[in-house]
Amino acid sequence: MLRIFVFGICFANLVNWQKWVFPFILVRFIMASKKQAVELIALQCGECKRRNYTTSKNRRNIQEKLEFKKYCPHERKHTLHKETKIK
Ligand SMILES: [Zn+2]
Repeated sequence: MLRIFVFGICFANLVNWQKWVFPFILVRFIMASKKQAVELIALQCGECKRRNYTTSKNRRNIQEKLEFKKYCPHERKHTLHKETKIK
């Protein structure tokens, strides 16, 4: 009788433990997948090759390389900035 009682407590603890751990694992999994999808990129000036800007992009939504017309402070004019990787 005592054995069944102890077993019952152990089983209840196990159920509780899973109840707490499972959402935690799920959250960790979602966080990890989000981290992989969004990556930091640098915008490099097409003329002087300096990296003037940093931004982020979601690889799931945007597959092609980003290009922006942005101000280059070194040349003091607007030039085409292309996406490059940050080390
Ligand atoms: Zn430049």
